[in-house]
Amino acid sequence: MNNLLKGKVAVVTGGTRGIGYAIVKKYLEAGAITVLCGSREETAMKALEKIKAEMPEAQVDAIWPNLSDRSEVSAAFEGIKEKYGSLDILANNAGISQNTPLFDYKDEDFDKILNLNIKALYACSRAAAQIMKEQGGGVIINTSSIVSFNGQGTGCGYPTSKFAVNGLTKSLSRELGPYKIRVNAVAPGVTRTDMVAVLPDEMIQPIIKNIPMGRMAEPEDIANAFLFLASDLASYISGAILPVAGAVVI
Ligand code: NAD
Repeated sequence: MNNLLKGKVAVVTGGTRGIGYAIVKKYLEAGAITVLCGSREETAMKALEKIKAEMPEAQVDAIWPNLSDRSEVSAAFEGIKEKYGSLDILANNAGISQNTPLFDYKDEDFDKILNLNIKALYACSRAAAQIMKEQGGGVIINTSSIVSFNGQGTGCGYPTSKFAVNGLTKSLSRELGPYKIRVNAVAPGVTRTDMVAVLPDEMIQPIIKNIPMGRMAEPEDIANAFLFLASDLASYISGAILPVAGAVVI
C-alpha cells in the first residue's frame, strides 16, 4: 500500500479483466476510491467480488453504463461524484481489437471498433471533464497502443482507432489544460491478456522475438504507467503518449 492517490476518486473503464483489472488494483493499493466499469452487470459484479476478496480493506465499487451513450455515461459519473464527493481520475481502458484483412473486414466490425475504442473515450472524457472542470482539476489517461505509431500489417480498424486516441489525447490536453485537467495516453506493447490469448502462437512468437526486452508485457507493467500518470509525480505532464513496450520499434 502506498499513498500516491490517497483521497482521490478514480474510474477505470474495462476494469473487469486484463490491463483494466490491474489498473483498478494498482489504484486501490495507492489509496484511491476506485470504481470499475464493466460492459455488463454480471461481469462487473463478478470482478467487484473478486477484488473485494483479494483486497478486503479497499474502497471499490462497480458501474456498467453503455460507454458509447454520453447521457448514460454522464449520469453514471455524476452518480460517482454524488456518492464519493469528486471524480479525480478517469482511466479510459476499455477496448477491442480485430485482425481481419481489409477485403474480409465487415463494415459493422469497423464501426464496432471505432465506437468503443474512440467514441466511448470521447463520451467518457467529456462527461468526466465536465465534473473535473467544476471541481478545479483532474486527470484523464487513455489507452492507446504501440500500433498507434506505424499501424499494423492487418486489421486496419484497430490501429486507426488508436491513432484517433492519440489525436484526442493531444487535443484535449490543450483544451483542458486551462482547467488543470491533465490528459495523457499509455501505448502498451503486446501484453499478456485475453486480447492476446486469442491470437495464434505463430503470430505471437515473431512479435516477442522482435522485443528488445525479450518478453511481452504483464498487465502490471502497464498499470504502473497508469499509476505514475494519475499521480502528482506527473504533475506537469500532459499531452504525452507514453510507450510501455520493452523498447520495441514497430
Ligand atoms: P481484454 O480483452 O482483456 O479487456 C478488455 C476490457 O474491455 C474488458 O474489461 C472488457 O469488459 C472491456 N470491454 C470490451 N467491450 C466493451 C464494451 N462494449 N463496453 C465496455 N467495456 C468493454 O483486453 P486488454 O488487453 O486488457 O485491453 C485493454 C486495453 O489495452 C484496450 O484498450 C486495448 O486496446 C489496449 N491494448 C492492449 C494490448 C495487449 O496486447 N493486450 C496492447 C496495446 C493496447
